[in-house]
Amino acid sequence: MKTRILIKEGEYRLAKAGVMDAKIDAEELYCFACNCDKVVMFLRKEEEADKDVEEKYLELIERRASRIPLQHITGEQEFMGFRFKVTPDVLIPRQDTETLVTEAVKTIRQESERAAEEMKKASIFRKLRRRQCFEVLDLCCGSGSVGISLSRMLDTVSVSGTDISLPALKLAAANAALNRAKVEFFQGDMFDAVPEGRRVTAEGLSARAKGTKTGQFDMIVSNPPYIRSSIIPLLQEEVKKHEPIEALDGGRDGLDFYRTIVKQAHQRLKPEGWLLLEIGYDQGEELRKMIKDSGFYSPATVVKDLPGRDRVVKCRKK
Ligand code: GLN
Repeated sequence: MKTRILIKEGEYRLAKAGVMDAKIDAEELYCFACNCDKVVMFLRKEEEADKDVEEKYLELIERRASRIPLQHITGEQEFMGFRFKVTPDVLIPRQDTETLVTEAVKTIRQESERAAEEMKKASIFRKLRRRQCFEVLDLCCGSGSVGISLSRMLDTVSVSGTDISLPALKLAAANAALNRAKVEFFQGDMFDAVPEGRRVTAEGLSARAKGTKTGQFDMIVSNPPYIRSSIIPLLQEEVKKHEPIEALDGGRDGLDFYRTIVKQAHQRLKPEGWLLLEIGYDQGEELRKMIKDSGFYSPATVVKDLPGRDRVVKCRKK
């Protein structure tokens, strides 16, 4: 069978099974089966496919047609231009979440430019006391994609990641190693993970429980679970059957995790520290109100994602 016909057959089988991006996935799986890139795939389209490639490819197509996510088959996902390993223990990094990272990067760059300007005017004593690193906490870090991207994109940050799930943290530590990022991971329920949290490496919990230096941060970023419980059964099969429900379910109104974060984050932020949270497209107003009513933060702004939906709330400790 010609490669072109083989990939068309893959696309057809995926579409028939109800897979949304059948063409893209059929091509991705061909590249994965042959360990080649899209350019090589295009060059080979009129060539006959080897029998063993054909067999391997159709096997992969069958798995995808059973609605296993593409990323669970290939074992990885690209995010902010970096490669991340994924398993069923973590949420697959979404493009939506690139808005959170982009906004955090923008905010930190502005902060350091401002600090550099101030430093020019400062006395020698203040210069000596100057803060070395911008400390960031990635709360509910899952695969580590947010914190690791921040650590790779900025050289003045020190990033800690926390999660309740040990398997997720082991994967996050492996992802940090894969991307040569220096991020420390701590296990625990929300803020309990720092500063007393147990440090996690790719091999498991480290022998000595150890927290961050201060347990206070210049910025807290988080993409917590925020889907309403009643919506979970309506999600795509790939999501509801294969991704960890505990990374998605935000309780009855989807806001459970935000309530804890808004109540506690100010204790873990340095003066004027930033709080950046990913939100569902329809949660902006509720979050803004929750932040205002807490009295701990300056008024929140809402940042939109590429398709123009509310995606991130951003505020500062008063
Ligand atoms: N945006 C994700 C989804 O729609 C949800 C992420 C989350 O709950 N943090 O699947």
